[in-house]
Amino acid sequence: MQPVMDSYDATAFAVESYTCPRCQAAAEMRFPGLCPACVTTLRDTMRREAHVVDAEYVPKVNVTANAVALRND
Ligand SMILES: [Zn+2]
Repeated sequence: MQPVMDSYDATAFAVESYTCPRCQAAAEMRFPGLCPACVTTLRDTMRREAHVVDAEYVPKVNVTANAVALRND
């Protein structure tokens, strides 16, 4: 997976030891966060493909732009 941002140089930040908040293991990372093992596990178990939902969106009256002006009475 490619990084979303490419406007910073990650190698400019020193690698430090952080504790993973999920598994409590120490890992060498540039930024605090999940360890690489947890990232891999979560990507494998939680990732899903996009799919088309067969449903029609019907806005309620209170989300219509100007419900009073559009009323027929
Ligand atoms: Zn972890």
